[in-house]
This record gives sequence, structure tokens and C-alpha cells, in this order.
Amino acid sequence: MNRSDKAAGRTIINAYRRAFAPLAELALPRLRVYHSGFTSNRVLAMTAQTNRQFLLAKRPVGAATRDTFTYQEVPVGTPGDGQVLVRNEYLSLDPAMRGWMNEGKSYIPPVGIGEVMRALGVGKVIASNTPKFAVGDYVNGALGVQDYFLGEPRGFYKVDPKLAPLPRYLSALGMTGMTAYFALLDTGAPKAGETVVISGAAGAVGSIAGQIAKLKGCRVVGIAGGADKCKFLVDELGFDAAIDYKSEDVPAALKRECPKGVDVYFDNVGGDILDAVLSRLALKARVVICGAISQYNNKEAVKGPANYLSLLVNRARMEGFVVMDHAANFAAAGQEMAGWMAQGKLKSKEDIVEGLETFPETLMKLFNGENFGKLVLKVS
Ligand code: NDP
Repeated sequence: MNRSDKAAGRTIINAYRRAFAPLAELALPRLRVYHSGFTSNRVLAMTAQTNRQFLLAKRPVGAATRDTFTYQEVPVGTPGDGQVLVRNEYLSLDPAMRGWMNEGKSYIPPVGIGEVMRALGVGKVIASNTPKFAVGDYVNGALGVQDYFLGEPRGFYKVDPKLAPLPRYLSALGMTGMTAYFALLDTGAPKAGETVVISGAAGAVGSIAGQIAKLKGCRVVGIAGGADKCKFLVDELGFDAAIDYKSEDVPAALKRECPKGVDVYFDNVGGDILDAVLSRLALKARVVICGAISQYNNKEAVKGPANYLSLLVNRARMEGFVVMDHAANFAAAGQEMAGWMAQGKLKSKEDIVEGLETFPETLMKLFNGENFGKLVLKVS
């Protein structure tokens, strides 16, 4: 590491100390009281501009389509007490968004019909009526699929575009990176020399998780769709092997690449691939249920694992994971991730699509495997 890398690393690490601490708020009760009587002299009259929005029109059965959303244009409002107006610059498109469209109990309430579709994003504060954020600050938070966010900045935190490009705060330096870090290290708990298998491996979470597993001295095998993605995993990210589930016999390939069995399986896809890996578990293996994208658009019931008795035979465990459970530790994890990036040991790949108006079709890229890296929508 040269001196400027070290300086960049230190700067990013310090930024993380400041930036991630407020994220812990997301794990706290959703009540914020700002002292009454505060009035910012920086509130701007914004009503002349138009805010393009995608609202959830109905709960989709199967894949979401353009009809799932209502598109509307409304005037941009002015922040009330405790509120900010943010011009959204980049939105994070996540497989979880499909789950947020469903009715029913989950780890987060569903998006209501007629509400702006929920999306994390980064943007610039252009009017503020709270002491927490000033005009010109860049923030990361649940901005919604729209040009402008107007409301209380619950759980928002500052990011610095001088330290890293804004989309990176939605990938390795954001929720995606935190998911990879904690799901692997906390739930998967890999030890040096163990074999770690990751599905959805060329995607946002999987690609980071695999690199961290390599940093921890594991043998890492990725499962991804297509020769290009598999080549990228091995040649660019240093995975030991990659299995193309679209053209290979996955059980046979797992047998070839994991001769001692699978100690940690980081599952992003569920379905048949989960079953195939279950049949290769090593003694005391850990299966991390991070996601199950192959099941999110099911019209029928979710397909559960048929080979679950492998958990019994191998005294293994399977455990669900939700990233927000770890919010209190994001700052420390962020410091470590930023350090690895500054040292060139961790790479982040973003797949940026331009145009808010493309939102419904761009979101579907996740479910067709058309994204390569973290899928980000550039708003304008
Ligand atoms: P990705 O960037 O990995 O994009 C999704 C990828 O999934 C696609 O590129 C595609 O890759 C793969 N895929 C889609 N359909 C299928 C299928 N039927 N079978 C196998 N693979 C499929 O998304 P993320 O990294 O953002 O998310 C990965 C997983 O992590 C998701 O399941 C998501 O829900 C989960 N997640 C969980 C969190 C938590 O707290 N539990 C937090 C964040 C994400 P390919 O071309 O290889 O098929």
C-alpha cells in the first residue's frame, strides 16, 4: 500500500466512523422528536419543479411489470418542521423490493398500495428544516422511486462524494457490503481452510461475500449464470472456482470443486441450487439463508429444500439472516471494508442504468440475471 492509499484508507475509515453511527437508528423505535420552534433559514421554495414518482398500484402475482406501478408527476413541496428535501441521484435496485410489494408479515412492513415505491438511494439535500442536515449534504437513506424525497430523514446518514463515487455507497460501502460482511462472518463463521460456496456469486452481495471469504483464507466456489460471470469471479475476484448453473450439472460440479464437502453455504437463490448444495454439506456445516431470489416471483408456494435431512446427518445448521439486525455494528464493519478497499483487496462492481422512467424494466433485470454487479438506477 503506498502513502496516498494509506491516506485514502484513513480518510474513508474516519468517514465511516461518522457515517455509519446514525444507521443504528434504523434498529431503534421509529420516533424522533426535534425541538419545537426550530426554523432553518435555508428552506427554499421548491414548488415550481416537478417530481416524477412510481407508486405501487397493486400487489403483483408473479413478476412485477410496468402495470404494477402508477407513474405520476407532482409538484415538489417544501420541507416542514424536521423535514428535508433531497434531490435523488442514484437509487439502489434490490431483489428485496419484490418482497416489499407483498402483503403479509415480513422483517419490514410492505409498501402500501398508492405509496411511493420504497428504494434506498443517495442524493443531495437541497432544502432543510432540521439541524441534522444542511443544504449541500449528500445523504443515504430510503429515498423512494422518485426524483425528490420530501419528509423526515429517518435513518438517513451523510456520505462524502469526494471519498468514493456515490453509487459505491449503495454497493460495497452500503447495505450490500454490510449484508455480505455480516451474513458471511457472523452467521456463516468461516474458518481458514474451509470451503465456502456462494450462489448469486457474481451479484452485488455474492461478489463481496466471496472476496471476504478469500481474505479469510477459505477455498471459495461461486455459482453464477453464464460463462462471463464465472470468468469474472475467477479471473478478476480471485475465486478458486466458479460453476455456471445455466450450462453445468450443479451437483456434479459441486462434487468436483468441493471434494471435502461444503463447510459454509451462502445462499442467495434458494430452490434447486440450495438442494444441490445441501447434498454436499460437510460435518458441522453452516447454511446462511441470505436470500432466495429464485422463489420471489413464484405464483405457487415457495419451494422448500427437499434435502434438509442432510442437516441432521451432518449435524449442520441453517440460519436466516437480516442485515438490519447488525446496524449497531455497521461502523466497525465499514471501517474494515473501507480498509480492504483502500488496500486493493476488495473490489466493487456497479451496474448503472440511467433514467428513472426505466424503473420497472430495470428492476426486472435482477430476476433475469441481466445485471452484472450492484444494480443502480441513475435518476436523471
Ligand atoms: P444480485 O446483484 O445478486 O442480483 C440478483 C442475481 O440473482 C441475478 O443477477 C442473477 O444472477 C441471480 N438470479 C436471478 N434469478 C435466479 C434464479 N432463478 N436462480 C438463480 N439465480 C438467480 O442481487 P443482490 O446481491 O442485491 O441480492 C442477492 C440476494 O441477497 C437476494 O436474494 C437478496 O434478497 C438477498 N439480500 C438479503 C439481505 C438480507 O438482509 N437478508 C439484504 C440484501 C440482499 P445470475 O446471472 O448468476 O443468475
